[in-house]
Amino acid sequence: MKVDFKKVGREPKSVYLERDGVALRGELRRGNRDLTEFKGKLSNNILVRCIRCGEEFLLPLDEELNLRFSDGVYRGSEELDIIEFYDGKIDFQEVLESEMESIRLDYHLCPQCKGEEYGSTKATGEQDKSGQKENALQDQIGASGKG
Ligand SMILES: [Zn+2]
Repeated sequence: MKVDFKKVGREPKSVYLERDGVALRGELRRGNRDLTEFKGKLSNNILVRCIRCGEEFLLPLDEELNLRFSDGVYRGSEELDIIEFYDGKIDFQEVLESEMESIRLDYHLCPQCKGEEYGSTKATGEQDKSGQKENALQDQIGASGKG
């Protein structure tokens, strides 16, 4: 999925894509200093490898993502994490892949090894995630764009 920088305005634009079961969703909008801001979330599961036993397992993902994109080289002086794109488009496929890559490179223990690590032999109880929705982003996308 690619989005033209020029098509991003002040109104938030929804973004959604998936890769290998990982979902990336969020909103894109024009920010300050020629930067395009993305606020979103990584969710579902990602296949990672346990550093102890080497088994692959699905790690639940629920991670907030705040990114800034620059159309071309960013010349600002602030030291921020800015992702630059050079063809006038934000390539979300690439963004998602690099996020997934960095998650995979993290240190992960599968549930079994984790259990041993903490010495708890208790059967894994189901964790109730009380859905706390802080950001009730009610995106009202003014569909004013034409093909
Ligand atoms: Zn393991």
